[in-house]
Amino acid sequence: MKDNLFGKSLQQTEAVVSESGLPGYAASQITDWLYRKHVREIDAMTNLSKISRERLKEKYLPGVWDPLKEQISADGTKKYLFPCADGRYIEAAFIPEGNRNTLCVSTQVGCKMGCLFCMTGKQGFQGNLSAGEILNQYRSLPERESITNIVYMGMGEPFNNTEAVLQSTEVFTAPWGYAMSPRRITVSTIGLIPGMVEFIEKSQCHLAVSMHTPFEEERKYLMPVEKTYPLKEVIGVLRKYDPGRQRRISFEYIMFDKLNDTNRHVNELARLLNGLRCRINLIRFHPIPETPFKSSSEETIENFLVKLNRKGFRTTVRASRGQDIAAACGLLSTREMVVKEEG
Ligand code: SF4
Repeated sequence: MKDNLFGKSLQQTEAVVSESGLPGYAASQITDWLYRKHVREIDAMTNLSKISRERLKEKYLPGVWDPLKEQISADGTKKYLFPCADGRYIEAAFIPEGNRNTLCVSTQVGCKMGCLFCMTGKQGFQGNLSAGEILNQYRSLPERESITNIVYMGMGEPFNNTEAVLQSTEVFTAPWGYAMSPRRITVSTIGLIPGMVEFIEKSQCHLAVSMHTPFEEERKYLMPVEKTYPLKEVIGVLRKYDPGRQRRISFEYIMFDKLNDTNRHVNELARLLNGLRCRINLIRFHPIPETPFKSSSEETIENFLVKLNRKGFRTTVRASRGQDIAAACGLLSTREMVVKEEG
């Protein structure tokens, strides 16, 4: 089976070049064609000799795919469905907001973490994406040139696929890659400590941690990961690393009606995060099929925000986007699987 060129780091491309008997300088020519000139075919790499291109084609494919489907929300959010290996699907969401255009990428097909409120969790786990499959969600997006920010908040838990995630952030930020500032990229985790530590040490991108409740028992109910990597330990690890002023740590907090939106939660959250330089993002819950959860009311969310702000935490509410096209992670691809199975 042929391997893909797209998604490889410069170092990996150097290995490809050397194995294929191409001159050493061909590696930077290839990364230039792939990440700067956005070519789709090896034959389009015209500063490589014909014989070099033929040698590459014997073992490699370019490795880029167009999205299969898109859905557009009334608020401008677009959701793209990308095919990947074995007839599986992943999603990427394009979210325009004023001057800011955010792309939300997936890192796995499905997810094994089983968070109770998440559609991807209900799909179960079907496989990891390669770095190329993560990067292709950006590369092949029709709006690519207008993207200002990238968030790893789509399907999957990034630190269950740390190697591919780190390789993709390297390509996004390296001067030979897409040369983006790491400050435009945020990787979101539910708190898998080993991968999180590796990410903190090897990358400069921002980190977001999904908290959703400061209480252990409630978190165990909502997010089974609490049993393996308790939130207290995750925060303990974050306290050890000084992220500096350039790098942001934020906590994601989905607001569930009468479940995690009380004064008790505000106080415990403030106690846990006391002294840690961080932001808190409150998120309205998108209802998904077969869950008992409802989003907190606008008034409750506003009160929660004011109280956290008063306690000195920089807190924002994430706008609810793309509700009419099911922009909650995993909904579109789940629907596609169901349609396929039914068809
Ligand atoms: Fe996986 Fe994230 Fe969904 Fe949890 S919320 S099941 S980690 S995709």
